[in-house]
Amino acid sequence: MHKLTRATLAFNGLGRCFIAEKHLSAIKITSRGLVCAEHGGDSGKNHEVYDVVISGGGMVGSAMACSLGMDPNLEGKKILLLEAGNKKVMDKVPDTYSTRVSSISPGSATVLSGIGAWEHITQMRCKPYKRMQVWDACSDALITFDKEDLQDEMAYIVENDIVVAALTKQLDSLSDNVQVKYRSKVVKYRWPTPHLAADSIPWVKVTLANGETVQTKLLIGADGPNSMVRQALGIPTVKWNYDQSAVVAVLHLSEPTENNVAWQRFLPTGPIAMLPLSDTKSSLVWSTSHQLAGELLELDEESFVDAVNSAFWSNENQSELFETAGAMFRSALAAVMPSAGSPRQLPPSVAGIGPKTRVMFPLGIGHASEYVRHRVALIGDAAHRVHPLAGQGANLGFGDVACLTQLLSQAAFDGKDLGAMQHLLEYETERQRHNLPMMAAIDLMKRLYSTNAAPVVLLRTFGLQATNMLPALKDQMMAYASK
Ligand SMILES: Cc1cc2nc3c(=O)[nH]c(=O)nc-3n(C[C@H](O)[C@H](O)[C@H](O)COP(=O)(O)OP(=O)(O)OC[C@H]3O[C@@H](n4cnc5c(N)ncnc54)[C@H](O)[C@@H]3O)c2cc1C
Repeated sequence: MHKLTRATLAFNGLGRCFIAEKHLSAIKITSRGLVCAEHGGDSGKNHEVYDVVISGGGMVGSAMACSLGMDPNLEGKKILLLEAGNKKVMDKVPDTYSTRVSSISPGSATVLSGIGAWEHITQMRCKPYKRMQVWDACSDALITFDKEDLQDEMAYIVENDIVVAALTKQLDSLSDNVQVKYRSKVVKYRWPTPHLAADSIPWVKVTLANGETVQTKLLIGADGPNSMVRQALGIPTVKWNYDQSAVVAVLHLSEPTENNVAWQRFLPTGPIAMLPLSDTKSSLVWSTSHQLAGELLELDEESFVDAVNSAFWSNENQSELFETAGAMFRSALAAVMPSAGSPRQLPPSVAGIGPKTRVMFPLGIGHASEYVRHRVALIGDAAHRVHPLAGQGANLGFGDVACLTQLLSQAAFDGKDLGAMQHLLEYETERQRHNLPMMAAIDLMKRLYSTNAAPVVLLRTFGLQATNMLPALKDQMMAYASK
């Protein structure tokens, strides 16, 4: 057995530190905390120890960093955000809209507001909408969601760049609490082992592409759907690619409208959505077969606009059987619930597209069976990835941020080790309870609407019409999706 030196250091909230003598030449206390200098392997490199390191500064990782940096119980903790890409500052909002947008739920807006980023977002650019209409291209079935009397916002369409820029602005104001390293790609993780073996380390060791290393009591993996944290830990993940890619673009409407409705039509090849950006512009998210997506990118502007209008307006997928069966079922329902159901509206027509290129993204689903390990937690797309048809991916991630912050805050208040499994497991349980049913529902919708087989079309036609006439059920669905 190797001889261990037990150095117990307590300062700056860093708690106790157990270090194998074999590996250490010096322990140094600096103004920013504890620095351990190793000899051996990566000689001469300092391993600054952080309380929390967040790997990945996308929308979710940046929100996590802000959220921890603003929590009063975590004051004095050393927090580091590592992002492989450049810092995204936005001194002036660009005139042109970005093609990448997210529908941000009221629940997520509350999370972003609580960490001071929502104010920046509303000052920059965002478009609330009050109603959503979803309809089937194979039949007359439709469902509408709206807030009572259209007084409240149902959700907000925000460009992803604006969300990140707002969070970056907020992080700049938190520089005393949160350190951020951009252009800092993590290339290697080393995990602590529960028992101190000869070559074990007490904390997670993170190696950056420039050779720098840091250590942390808690690593939060926010590094997206291909998460290196998740893969390096070997966490079993259920995932598959869909037979669809999403084509995104900025659409110019034929004429100015109030534009406060989000539209989504389910075509047999996949859903097409038009999300409001301004009185004259909307964002397109068209999920379709990889082949058609590729062809859509190649079309000249006029043909592309024709294809978009036709996808929203054409009745080529409807048949007499579906129309008659749907109409009969609707009249039967109306006899029982005469006042329920909302009228069909027509979507705006499209006249052109924005100057930014159309882009396509292959779509898939993924779920990590474990969100946590000793000293590690996964959040956002690193833990779960969904089809964009329900506009929920980032919202689930912001929910993770709120839940993990609350549990870490309580752990800090109770003087507990932030990386301990007890509260990390609470996070996993709470979030999986929310995320899994949502993921299952989204996947079911994708499957249900990816066919024009008559029995399935009839089933979903009746289901959609019945749901549309049950306001209480629709309210529950809206409340669940708004979290
Ligand atoms: C077409 C489309 C439409 C969508 N629409 C919606 C919508 O309307 N509403 C909604 O809620 N969601 C929507 N989503 C989903 C949403 O975009 C994602 O859920 C969200 O972007 C995930 O954010 P994230 O921060 O978890 O991951 P990412 O955005 O993938 O960010 C990960 C970050 O980690 C960094 N990183 C990766 N590896 C490393 C490393 N080794 N070292 C350091 N940094 C690293 C990356 O540079 C990146 O910045 C949509 C998705 C698509 C494809």
